[in-house]
Amino acid sequence: MSLFISDRFCPQNHRCPIIRVCPQQAIIQDGYGLPVIDKTKCTECGKCIKYCPMRAVKEV
Ligand code: SF4
Repeated sequence: MSLFISDRFCPQNHRCPIIRVCPQQAIIQDGYGLPVIDKTKCTECGKCIKYCPMRAVKEV
């Protein structure tokens, strides 16, 4: 499994609330842009899937 944040679901108009939820600091966001999950840090714990209000975190 690998996780990514979908630009189809993320409105990209606010600071991503799941950045502070991630225990690995694996979610990177430039301004209000589409957040990216750093695969080298992500342990696939699934917290971001649960906490994203837009359900924008998807599995590949
Ligand atoms: S699955 Fe867990 S470690 Fe990976 S980005 Fe989401 S919250 Fe962070």
